[in-house]
Amino acid sequence: MTTLVPALKPSRLIKPTLDTPYHIDFEWWNKADRSLRVYLRSHLCDAHRELYADSTDADPVDWVDPHTAEVKPIDGILYLLRTHCSLQPEYMHDMTSVVDSVFRVFLVNNNQPMSPRELGERVGKDPELILRTISGKSVYQGLRPVMEGAG
Ligand SMILES: [Zn+2]
Repeated sequence: MTTLVPALKPSRLIKPTLDTPYHIDFEWWNKADRSLRVYLRSHLCDAHRELYADSTDADPVDWVDPHTAEVKPIDGILYLLRTHCSLQPEYMHDMTSVVDSVFRVFLVNNNQPMSPRELGERVGKDPELILRTISGKSVYQGLRPVMEGAG
């Protein structure tokens, strides 16, 4: 016998599937006691990583949110990632972990939601593996399902 999930349960309790859209939840980074900047730095190209190796800050840059068309300042390192490093040929190659490769996809596509199935095609990994990795109890690097109607 299967357990029915009542419609009024919070969406976070719905089990994600291969077609559940995910994205980087930057709010998670704000709430979690972690440094987004340090993690972002690890995705820079070699030249920029060197440039920012000892830097604790980069000036914010105006960025237009593709969903809301809202202009907001973003971290200078994130800006570099989007405008330079992600365009380098090695960006999508030297990746070992599922989490890192998925994270990089969202940095490239301006954090537009993608399902594990789509992500699998993009990074050349098994969608089931991606789903298992990012749908567990722990949230990895802010990778979470897009919660419709939340907030
Ligand atoms: Zn770069």
